[in-house]
Amino acid sequence: MRFEDFVRFFKENTDGSCCPYCRKDDWHLILPSDDGFVTVPLTKTGAHPALASVAMPCIVMECSNCGHVRLHSAGHIGHWMLNQGKNNE
Ligand SMILES: [Zn+2]
Repeated sequence: MRFEDFVRFFKENTDGSCCPYCRKDDWHLILPSDDGFVTVPLTKTGAHPALASVAMPCIVMECSNCGHVRLHSAGHIGHWMLNQGKNNE
């Protein structure tokens, strides 16, 4: 996935993008590299966090004004992209 893919996904699948805290509309992506993801560990209730064995890849966006952070499932975006390809065939 590329930055352009994320922009297209958000334009086509979100209803406005104002920050829920400051109402500004100025977001930037936080990526560990040009095309990487952030992973969120999924842990059972009561399990030790160090034993988490499953992780969810996410796209992280930060409000440029107040720093509020939001996450979107990279898997969901990837699935949407695959379906877009099928719809355009
Ligand atoms: Zn904000």
